[in-house]
Amino acid sequence: MTQRVAIVGAGLTGSLLACFLARRGLTVTLYERRPDPRTGSAERGRSINLAISERGLDALRRIGLAEEVMADALPMMGRMIHPVEGPLDFQPYSASQDRAINSISRSALNNALLDAAAKAPGVEIVFEHRLVGLDSQAGELVFETPSGRVEAQADVVLGADGAGSAVRGQLVGEGALADDADFLDYGYKELSIPAAGGEFALDPGALHIWPRGTSMMIALPNPDRSFTCTLFWPSGSFDALTTAPQIERYFAEHYPDLLPLAPGLVDDYLHNPVGVLGTVHVQPWQAHGRTALIGDAAHAIVPFYGQGANCAFEDVVELDRCLDDTGGSWARALPLFEARRRDNTDAIAEMALANFVEMRDKVASPVFRLGKQLEHA
Ligand code: FAD
Repeated sequence: MTQRVAIVGAGLTGSLLACFLARRGLTVTLYERRPDPRTGSAERGRSINLAISERGLDALRRIGLAEEVMADALPMMGRMIHPVEGPLDFQPYSASQDRAINSISRSALNNALLDAAAKAPGVEIVFEHRLVGLDSQAGELVFETPSGRVEAQADVVLGADGAGSAVRGQLVGEGALADDADFLDYGYKELSIPAAGGEFALDPGALHIWPRGTSMMIALPNPDRSFTCTLFWPSGSFDALTTAPQIERYFAEHYPDLLPLAPGLVDDYLHNPVGVLGTVHVQPWQAHGRTALIGDAAHAIVPFYGQGANCAFEDVVELDRCLDDTGGSWARALPLFEARRRDNTDAIAEMALANFVEMRDKVASPVFRLGKQLEHA
């Protein structure tokens, strides 16, 4: 009999995973708590673009989606450092001209993956289904929907429902696994730099950084020629600025080149939410050989290496490989997946934390710049 797989969460990980599992001839139902994002508008201030690197592109290539996604991508060849005073400083990521990280719209990527999953044989996507109950041993799921509670049954349940995973919460409640989250004492807020006279207001071939010691701002280009900026500031410090004159004065002093480029700065600052940042640790990632976590649900990390989604895409490729290597046995593939991935996800979690210090502080130091020049010499 064909195995029925339930994937909870149709974000980047869940929708990619559905595409991979469909190729194995499995019957997949993808449950998502939100309405279909392809018919609505994006949430305000939630990481509008992502840096996708070779690690993520590899997964997209395997399902024939890399070309479509890359058609709108903006390659960033290095960092552009914006000091408070003085000239901009471009620091290439690599001596090689063909290596870049790519700025990609999160919603366009998610929509392309949902379209691909919807077209894949054996995949059904069910929106407005929020997981609220799970019996991981019996494979029974309970969802809240606009028309009341709905129950479902699956042979395998995969939690791809992000950093605050409800699947993980249910497994912790059953005593099947333990989790903890290290929250950073920093929050993030998004701002926008619109196109100026139809053109990019900054160089679109770079990831822009305003290092300010204990805090920073970054900006990535978008296909509509705008930039999305993200402030990473100590938690609580966002509340110190509450009026338009205060906000303008602060940015004029600390981010002087931003002010003329961001006419909506005050509105963005006052209305966009402050997001939290943290690292999630889970042990183990699977229970009973039939329920498992994947992507941010298993190992959410801070965003300073731009590798969370890339790493989640690598998870999907590795899980598929483990199914190949175990003749499609979930009971053997799920522990194998964890054994093969954990060292890598632990490493990137540490590197992402370390890169925050590099980005907000070290990139502005002359010694750091000299070191990079020698690396590329
Ligand atoms: P999510 O994207 O969180 O998707 C989870 C899905 O599950 C959502 O659709 C949600 O609605 C759904 N869901 C949640 N609960 C339920 C429930 N109870 N029932 C049903 N559905 C549910 N990564 C990069 O690679 N490059 C970057 O440049 C980058 N920049 C980032 C910048 C910021 C500010 C942040 C916060 C993160 C960034 N990341 C980046 C990380 C990246 O966003 C995540 O790693 C990625 O989104 C993880 O995908 P996911 O599908 O596992 O989780």
